[in-house]
Amino acid sequence: MHAGEETGQHLAQPRPVFPASRMLSGAGVREHSGWIVDIGALLSLKSAIVLTAFAVFAVWERVRPADPRPLLLRIGHFGRAARERLGRNAALFVLNTLAGPLIVLPVTWWATGAGAGLRPEWWGWPLDILLLDLWIYWWHRANHEMPFLWRFHQVHHLDEFLDTTSAFRFHFGEVVLSALARALLVLLFDMPMTSVIVFEALVLASAIFHHSDAKLAPSVERALSMVVITPGIHWVHHHAVRADTDSNYGTFFSFWDRLFGTRSRTERFAGMPLGVERMGERGLMRLLSAPFDRQKRAKPAPRSARQ
Ligand SMILES: [Zn+2]
Repeated sequence: MHAGEETGQHLAQPRPVFPASRMLSGAGVREHSGWIVDIGALLSLKSAIVLTAFAVFAVWERVRPADPRPLLLRIGHFGRAARERLGRNAALFVLNTLAGPLIVLPVTWWATGAGAGLRPEWWGWPLDILLLDLWIYWWHRANHEMPFLWRFHQVHHLDEFLDTTSAFRFHFGEVVLSALARALLVLLFDMPMTSVIVFEALVLASAIFHHSDAKLAPSVERALSMVVITPGIHWVHHHAVRADTDSNYGTFFSFWDRLFGTRSRTERFAGMPLGVERMGERGLMRLLSAPFDRQKRAKPAPRSARQ
């Protein structure tokens, strides 16, 4: 990233349809702030942050697991069910990785350049991060409350165990729908690519952490949970009881659930059943076709089950 006065010849040219050539060349693009940002370098930094978070928590959850049940792959212990689960999550991850350069990145790139020009001068990237986290709270909540969106989101919830790999287990359709919905917010608030990429890094690192089976000291988890979503909070969201599944929607900050009354009273407990109430895990092909099944979901839990 370097200051705006170092404008190169290319910056005077119209904004390209997609930044692939710029990413490869390492050239920068100008953002609202006047800063020239190297999108390729930012994406590399995001990948480095996500890979580091994955490496740290993947080792942590194997060395010091909070819930040591057999579906957690261990060094020297590769049970068949654990291997099959890892294969399913890895295959979904590969499909989602393809969605990045094919759909998510072009849509986001377009949205960051097509803003309505309504962004006030004083509006900075920390407010973008806060707003994107509020958006993802409501988007996640909509994925539970709107039957059409749940068809896709259930694929994430059908996992009967949680670890770092669950953070990457989403249906391709959910990833695409999420990118389209986010593009509306990016358009409305004229958000720059920098804010979106920083937010993606934050959300992915946070998702790896709160899906992981890493054991934290109770006092540390309590303190962290005042501000951010911890495994203790998010595992309750995966409890195979609908009242808990439809609660604890936060992704990074933990205060949205308290603010909007969706924080579950349930505390994570050893051996807590995970998944979707009255539904079982499926093979890869049935996970991919799940959104198109004829299905009926149990009625929503009463609000009295929440705080
Ligand atoms: Zn969910």
